[in-house]
Amino acid sequence: MRDGSVDPRRRVPRTDTLLADPRLAAAVATLGRDRVKAAVVHAQERARRGEIAPDEVRDAALAGLPAPGPRTVLNATGVVLHTNLGRAPLSPTAVAAVAAATGHTDVELDLRTGRRARRGRDALDALAAAVPAAAAVHVVNNGAAALVLAATALAAGREIVVSRGELVEIGDGFRLPDLLESTGARLREVGTTNRTTLDDYAAAVGPQTGFVLKVHPSNFQITGFTSATPVRQLATLDVPVVADIGSGLLAPDPLLPDEPDAAGTLRAGAALVTASGDKLLGGPQAGLLLGDATLVERLRRHPLARALRVDKLTLAALAATLHRPDTPTRTALHADPAALRRRVELLRDRLGADGRKAEVVPAVAVVGGGGAPGVELDSWVLSLPERYAVPLRTGDQPVLGRVVRGRLLLDLRCVPVDADEAVLAAVLRVPGDD
Ligand SMILES: *Cc1c(COP(=O)(O)O)cnc(C)c1O
Repeated sequence: MRDGSVDPRRRVPRTDTLLADPRLAAAVATLGRDRVKAAVVHAQERARRGEIAPDEVRDAALAGLPAPGPRTVLNATGVVLHTNLGRAPLSPTAVAAVAAATGHTDVELDLRTGRRARRGRDALDALAAAVPAAAAVHVVNNGAAALVLAATALAAGREIVVSRGELVEIGDGFRLPDLLESTGARLREVGTTNRTTLDDYAAAVGPQTGFVLKVHPSNFQITGFTSATPVRQLATLDVPVVADIGSGLLAPDPLLPDEPDAAGTLRAGAALVTASGDKLLGGPQAGLLLGDATLVERLRRHPLARALRVDKLTLAALAATLHRPDTPTRTALHADPAALRRRVELLRDRLGADGRKAEVVPAVAVVGGGGAPGVELDSWVLSLPERYAVPLRTGDQPVLGRVVRGRLLLDLRCVPVDADEAVLAAVLRVPGDD
């Protein structure tokens, strides 16, 4: 109770009026009416007791709601790197590192000397150690930023020589050619959609060339009468080769034989490799640049580098991911199909007597998110009637599967084992009247 400052005759706002307030109405849309109404009623009670003024009720109700932010979803789509679901989930080690980095840290300070130090050196040292073939490394905001920085620093006002078969669209309408031209570099397209030879590149390379760009077709495949020129051959040209490998695989993975890795690409002669941090590396959103020391230094010293600088939380997550590469992404990728089968069979057996028309069937999962477009991962899924899809997606704990021919398929490959109970509970919350 405040000391008489609240006039009890002033009226506490009505529930309907409060729920019509734009911010509370927005909260109803994301959190549900019951949740928001409970916070409103609680705030009204405090006003009636005189603890807050009537005109403070709205803010008190808002303060009683969980902070706005993304909802945690269970990825049962069978797509390991789903861009719409935030690509790679961070490992517990990375999460702990992020939490530790939230306050004041030595991100740019050497505690022994008390002097300014290279920003994010833990992450940079870990990246350099993971890829000894790289003489130097740099980290920016994402894969696109790595390309923009390379194009700006090495080819603005000059030409980037690139195959017509590698002018790719990443997704959401973003096209690499547009991105590169926005830097002031000119694209010199060579070859054809399906075939580009070393001679095509050689004929285009000249005094105007900033670099030759090799882009990994990470989200599509061209098959049939095709021929691409490997980095090893491009490296014989008298200009730097920049290779956008996309996925961030640092070393080869036998499961993904066609996916280029940073170490192998540098050994093949690329001057610079660019990649994403939140694809197959399984880390935070980041753009990795690895390669020749002089080129990396030019990028680091370019004024644009400051605008693409990564946050201290990203650096912490990246360092931790490189330190412990057994990420959830790797676990999902290498999941044993027999173990996946046992997990979904257990769920089916626990669904009750009617079984909810659930079946356990073999299926195929994919890497997704700009990686290994042709690779099929053997999986087993819990197949439910399609009508489960919407309630599972919109429930208290959203579970996302994929709908195929009238069935909702739930693939546990990307669901942490300790979340199987949550999947089961979510399915059981859907009324089972069929
Ligand atoms: C994913 C991808 C990009 C873009 O990387 P972001 O981290 O999403 O910015 C660029 N090139 C290739 C080949 C990719 O696969």
